Amino acid sequence: MTTLETFEKYVIPNYTRYPVTLVRGEDSWVWDEDGKRYLDFFPGWGCNMLGHCPKYVVEAVREQVGKLIHIPNSWYSQEQGEWARLLSERSFGGKCFFCNSGTEANEAAIKLARMYGNERKRYKIVTFYNGFHGRTMGSVAATAQPKYQQGLGPLLPGFIYAEYGNLDEVKKIVENDDEIVSIMLEPIQGEGGVNVPSREFLTGLRELCDKNDILLHFDEVQTGCGRTGEWFAYQLFGVTPDLMTLAKTICGGITGGALVTRQEFAPYLKPGMHAATFGGNPIAAAAGIATIRQIEEHNLLENAKRNFELFKKRFLELKEKTDVVTDVRGCGAMVGMELNINGTSIVQKCMENGLLINCTHGTVIRLLPSITLTEAQINEGCDIICDAVMNA
Ligand SMILES: *Cc1c(COP(=O)(O)O)cnc(C)c1O
Repeated sequence: MTTLETFEKYVIPNYTRYPVTLVRGEDSWVWDEDGKRYLDFFPGWGCNMLGHCPKYVVEAVREQVGKLIHIPNSWYSQEQGEWARLLSERSFGGKCFFCNSGTEANEAAIKLARMYGNERKRYKIVTFYNGFHGRTMGSVAATAQPKYQQGLGPLLPGFIYAEYGNLDEVKKIVENDDEIVSIMLEPIQGEGGVNVPSREFLTGLRELCDKNDILLHFDEVQTGCGRTGEWFAYQLFGVTPDLMTLAKTICGGITGGALVTRQEFAPYLKPGMHAATFGGNPIAAAAGIATIRQIEEHNLLENAKRNFELFKKRFLELKEKTDVVTDVRGCGAMVGMELNINGTSIVQKCMENGLLINCTHGTVIRLLPSITLTEAQINEGCDIICDAVMNA
């Protein structure tokens, strides 16, 4: 039986998959089972922020797996404590709860907000259209996109949706409703099309939250841990959240998630009221620590910043040459190129020519490349993309 036939028979078909089986990866390269090599500008759907099999992470996990694989959270582990310290020191000095995925981190934040709201008789959370927060029932209710909610009702109540970037609308919602406990958003929308908000929008939300005793929650599952060229995207805007959720990028491709809260909000998650059995396990923690070390020792935040300028230059040149490209946006290793056509055929064409990319929201070519990418790799990949767009 081929791999595709095995899937056909034994794997639930809830994903649309390319008919390609990947077998090996190294840095920004990945190979399929026929030995074809691809340059990967979307490694691990944003999880492999240091490329495939990053050296520090591989070494740390190899060592950890022979020492201690898993212990429950009824004991202390050196690795989890150290990982929390590193994340806290690079963000706002808060406290961490560890879990295994983005949606789980958001569930923890939703629970914390509800706990915070109890004594204030509030429970509602404002989220934004085209946001993405995950697939479990709380996070999917927070995700204001009908296509992800269809057929799942009744959804968890208590979410109010607003237009991303529209501060006046949020102000009106808060003025007319004294049950709002939290405002939850991505500081840059990823899945929604790489939408970078204005500084005024985020600053305005911060002021609104301060004035009305509302928690500000940034979902940095996609933008966190160096993706944008800062440790966390909120640092780009100078707007510090009360709660921050992390996953995808934080463990070099190993499964892991985290909720980081300001010190004063941490006690709202009390013993017994929330848990994740695998959360913060020694393997994930060792990988998380190694990820931060690799970024620092190789100056990769600087590299992510420089790389964005290289991508932007190439894509703005392309925009000059064709009407198909209508906008180029993003930050660090998070690049969006809006087209006036559906991008699916571009993705297909690039794959045929040995480059893996993504298209989101129908018309936005999205790249979440490794922050280790070199100028030569950027040019090689951009040649393929430009060729595909020019011949679209
Ligand atoms: C991917 C993503 C999630 C969900 O993460 P999972 O690990 O798939 O549960 C949540 N929020 C954002 C911003 C994401 O990009």
